[in-house]
Formats: sequence, C-alpha cells, structure tokens
Amino acid sequence: MPLVFSMTTEKMERMSEPILIVENVKKYFNTARGIIKAVDGVSFFVNQGEVFGVVGESGSGKTTLGNMVVGIYTPTSGKIIYKGQDIAKHAKERPKWLKKDIQIVFQNPASSLNPRRTIRQTLEVPLKVHMPSSNIAERVDKLLEMVDLPPEFAERYPDELGGGEKQLVAIARALATEPSFVVLDEPTSALDVSVQGKIIKILMNLKKRLNLSYMFITHNLSLMSNVADRVAIMYLGKVRELAETRDFFLNPMHPYTRMLLSSIPVITDEEEKLKPKRIESMGEIAGALNIPPGCSFHPRCPFVMDVCRSVDPPLNELAPAHFCSCHLYTTSNNAYDKYKK
Ligand code: SF4
Repeated sequence: MPLVFSMTTEKMERMSEPILIVENVKKYFNTARGIIKAVDGVSFFVNQGEVFGVVGESGSGKTTLGNMVVGIYTPTSGKIIYKGQDIAKHAKERPKWLKKDIQIVFQNPASSLNPRRTIRQTLEVPLKVHMPSSNIAERVDKLLEMVDLPPEFAERYPDELGGGEKQLVAIARALATEPSFVVLDEPTSALDVSVQGKIIKILMNLKKRLNLSYMFITHNLSLMSNVADRVAIMYLGKVRELAETRDFFLNPMHPYTRMLLSSIPVITDEEEKLKPKRIESMGEIAGALNIPPGCSFHPRCPFVMDVCRSVDPPLNELAPAHFCSCHLYTTSNNAYDKYKK
C-alpha cells in the first residue's frame, strides 16, 4: 500500500471522513508509439468542504486524474472511493446519484457550451435529467443569480457573452444538479486576467455557501496559495510532494517544487525574501513516451545523485502531513543543506 494512503487512513481518524479517497490509481494509454503512463500510482484524499489543489505542468497527468474522478476515463488500476463506494468506473456505468453528485468545470468555456443553445436551454438540460420535479424556470433564474449573472442572460447565446461570463454559465451548469464535489480543471487559465479574480471569488463563495468540496487542478502555483487547503504537485504522472498549503509554500521540500516557487515573479522585496533560493532547471520536461528511469525529474535536477537515475523514490511523510518523494531526504548525502535557506 502506498505510504500516502497509509497516512490518509490515519488522518481520517483525526479529521472528518474524507469525501474522496484515491488509492494507487494508474491510467495507461496504449498508443501506436508505445504506452503512455499518464497517471502512475497516485494516492490522496479530499476532505468534505476542502479545496484540494493539484498542480503540475502540461503532461503531468493532473487533467487525466480529474477525468478519472468524474468518470470520463476509467482507471487502468487502483481505487477511487467516493462517499465510501468504489466508483472507479466510466460515467456510463455509474449510478445516477453519482453522476449528479460529482461535476466538472472545464478549462475552455467556449468549447464546453453548445453555441446553438441559449443559456436557458443549456441550464435546462441537467435540470431535466437530474431534477425533473423542480420548477425548472425558477431554478434557471436561481442558478444565474448564484453565479452573479443577470436574469436576462438566460435568453442569450454563448456567442453573445464574454469569456468570463461563459465560464460562469459553465459553473452554473455544474451546480444545476446540486453536487457535493466539483472538479475544477484550470477554470480560469483560458480567461483574461481581469476576470480571473472575479471567477475565483465566486467559486470560493459558492463553496462556502453550498458546502462543496473542490479538486482544483491548475498549473498556477501562486493561485493555490490563496485558495487551497492542501496542495499536491505532480510530475510526469506521479505526486512528488503533498502538504497543507501553508507548509507547502513556507517549507517546500522537493527540488521541483522549489524550482517552480523560486521562479514565481513577485513585486515586493518582502515577497522575494519568502521565496526559496533560486533553482535552475538543468533541462526540459521529458516526453510522456520516454519517462526517465528512477526519479523522473532527475534529468532536470541540479542535485541528482547516482541512486536517482535508477531508483524511483517513494512518497514519504517527512514532516507531519508533509509528503515528499526525493532521495535527498533518505540518503546520508547532505546535498539538501546546500540549497536550503
Ligand atoms: Fe533530484 Fe534525486 Fe530528488 Fe529526484 S530524487 S528530485 S533527482 S535529488
């Protein structure tokens, strides 16, 4: 059993029951050019009412992970336990209550809305399927109000809306079924910076008001520092560090995390002082078809040791609830001290 999962079981006893437990989940794709290990043995849990941030560059497997939680993909192996039941199945095989209870907001609102449907027709679709006994017209008005859009928007088409407004409609559609859990897959990264803050604020208010749990997928680490309760960082299909948000940002352990944090642009000297010492990447991220052996980050890591090239480090709990997968912490080599502040 992966270490992170044994931690989750222990932690479960101390905290409220997690709404979602992902246990050693893998997703491999067979392609003409070979097997792509998009997600390769990932474990974590999400507590009720929590914002769990999943961060990673393109190709890290974070979106594939989110797609497995909502049933767009079936895992190759592993368990996804939601409200006590194993749900590691494609959405087509999932019971109706589950399809209603877990929703997703995609990155690109323009492609996720049907251009031939008015906003009212778009919002009516999930309501008719999942909430047929409700007053549908009234619910549409209520959903628009919840995402801060005026009622007259119901008669408009997606083309008549701005990017942020389209994303608000996509959020309203996700909330139409009154879910408990929402996967937010880069919900603001396709939007103009000027509207990103507004969308985040609405999402956070809705979480509080409706007691939602979020799995928030993003490449934007600094955004996570403001919204997440805990953060996991993925690299080439694996979680390399996972910690409570404050600890994650104040005491980052993995060289990859430190590299990303040290490259975030800041404005003030105070902020600069809080950043880890700058770490330069030694190379480019490897392709999904040729993941390096051992620690997959080793071609880019300035602290690489011989062991890193052949042995993949496990995800160990190095401080309370702070997990990291790196040989620097398990060897007698003191290379870590060289870059610690
Ligand atoms: Fe770097 Fe080795 Fe740690 Fe990987 S295991 S991050 S290569 S020091």
